[in-house]
Amino acid sequence: MINENFQKLPGAYLFAEIAQKVKAFKAENPEMEVISLGIGDVTQPLAPAVVEALHKAADEMAVAATFRGYGPERGYDFLREAIVANDFRARGIDIEADEVFVSDGAKSDTGNFQELLGADVCIAVTDPVYPVYVDSNVMGGRAGELGEDGRWSNVEYLPCTAENSFVPEFPTKHVDVIYLCYPNNPTGTTLTKEQLKRWVDYALEHDALIFYDAAYEAYIQSEDVPHSIYEIPGAKACAVEFHSYSKTAGFTGIRCGYTVVPKALRVNLNPLWNRRQSTKFNGTSYLSQRAAEAIYTLEGKKQIRATIDYYMENARRMREALVGMGFTVYGGTDAPYLWVRVLEGTTSWGFFDKMLHEAQVVCTPGVGFGPAGEGYVRLTAFGQHEATAKALERIKKLG
Ligand code: PLP
Repeated sequence: MINENFQKLPGAYLFAEIAQKVKAFKAENPEMEVISLGIGDVTQPLAPAVVEALHKAADEMAVAATFRGYGPERGYDFLREAIVANDFRARGIDIEADEVFVSDGAKSDTGNFQELLGADVCIAVTDPVYPVYVDSNVMGGRAGELGEDGRWSNVEYLPCTAENSFVPEFPTKHVDVIYLCYPNNPTGTTLTKEQLKRWVDYALEHDALIFYDAAYEAYIQSEDVPHSIYEIPGAKACAVEFHSYSKTAGFTGIRCGYTVVPKALRVNLNPLWNRRQSTKFNGTSYLSQRAAEAIYTLEGKKQIRATIDYYMENARRMREALVGMGFTVYGGTDAPYLWVRVLEGTTSWGFFDKMLHEAQVVCTPGVGFGPAGEGYVRLTAFGQHEATAKALERIKKLG
């Protein structure tokens, strides 16, 4: 007998499905070069300060006196203190080191955190949405049944569309947990401080928790867009925040991130998350944590900023070119994602196929992120400038 919740999950994980289609196309057309503007993986090498820290940490491991075995459950003090000082105190936010839990990334933490919730908790997600929030709640038996419209019966969906400028409206019924992700994957849109404040006030007033995914915080360019939900008064009582070094510093292969679980939360989740992590999580390697620490040095900061600027220059060029071709484009100004309206008369997957077959460019079908994503594709700015320019030339020639 296996857990029936897993059997409820439809098909493959979105990116596995895309990879399969691309593999089949390449097998049929081995001579064609395919450019991916699809999966959100980074392409630029690690910052030199990070590489140096990795070498140093490896050398320490080679000597008995400096060798490290199992690390502290919540992560090493040196990293948690660097996080607190740079990501929070420097922004006037009072977070303490024992509210920070270092992990191997935000996918694990956003996926696992639902284990702390009761079985009959009602969650709300934006639509479209990063699939991990919903799928992990399906695994947890909290989502109900999947309807023909692609929606789970116990999940409250908050559509984000061009009509509401991608700003979700409040749930129409009581929900216990609201997942928010800003800058948003997949739409690349953001909430201003004022807009996020309305959500914090809503959560406080309606006895809800916000799970806030700040994985793309480092890409924010606009002044009035908050980098952390804790910039909003009252958020420490109602919000857990997830961070990732994947896109901030190219750590998709190194693996490191962290989650903030404030002690002031109205439900005391900090000791529970500690208990969960100490039982089930093996910790992040010493090397990864030293590598993460290095991005907070003066040199490290400069270097990761240069890489983010490189990607954002890509985003700017993509926006300009696509708008020039007549596409309607959202995002791409405070995020490495562009949310592009597909050509009239086609669907997300239809446009995906067209792009793959006629331009050999991989995009991500918007509907893969939820029903409200139908009619859009997501393009990422994580490519090399040259490859991205080539992809844009090919898109221009689409019939
Ligand atoms: N959260 C969002 C919104 C993401 O888009 C991603 C990665 O694509 C993650 C979390 C995963 O981050 P990590 O690589 O740290 O697991």
